[in-house]
Amino acid sequence: MSLAEMKKKQLEIMLEKVEGFSQPSPEKEQYATPASVAADMLYLAYLREDLNTVCDLGCGTGILAIGAALLGARAVAVENDSQALSIARANADRLNVTVDFVRGDVNTIALRGIDAVIMNPPFGAQKASLGDRAFLRKATEMAKVVYSLHNQGSEGFIRSFVKPCRVEEIYRIPFPLKRCFEFHRQEVKNIDVELYRIICGKKDTLEE
Ligand code: SAH
Repeated sequence: MSLAEMKKKQLEIMLEKVEGFSQPSPEKEQYATPASVAADMLYLAYLREDLNTVCDLGCGTGILAIGAALLGARAVAVENDSQALSIARANADRLNVTVDFVRGDVNTIALRGIDAVIMNPPFGAQKASLGDRAFLRKATEMAKVVYSLHNQGSEGFIRSFVKPCRVEEIYRIPFPLKRCFEFHRQEVKNIDVELYRIICGKKDTLEE
């Protein structure tokens, strides 16, 4: 195992202490990112030196924001469900990191000074959900770089939706999907998800 892999494994082990949703809502597609997936995402961002001021949109119980903080980022996290937020706060305390938790709606939140957004938005898998669109719109509006997790096969949609931002890299990440809703049949089903690294270059031009 390389040194980098060891560091990532260490991060994963710490993130296993993050508690998930107590009563996940299927309508809100509340599904906590497994520690292994969060560690994969965050470690990539860390290697790319993207973890400066980071925002986790729809933070749920906080795993991505907390992981970013563990890797040295200044982390802000937005969530509209107060129950999830209180679990997230307790998780940050337990792991002894500072995260700025904000109760707010992704559609309307206005934050400044964010370098990177790291998020696992609602996939839009449930009917009537507009899922990831509001999240992608807000993320690309506020940050220079966005890490966003999506279902396999989202590439066409993401590439065109984020324009004029551009998809720079796509990683396939193994995702152990645990049974948590009635309609899930198996205890753990291994699927692959896609992590998109999206660059919003126009911000740099504006800043000059
Ligand atoms: N990021 C967390 C949770 C992912 S589930 C993790 O990786 O574990 C998606 C989260 O987005 C849920 O917690 C849900 O409550 C939240 N969410 C959905 N719509 C939202 C909105 N409009 N504003 C803020 N949060 C929202």
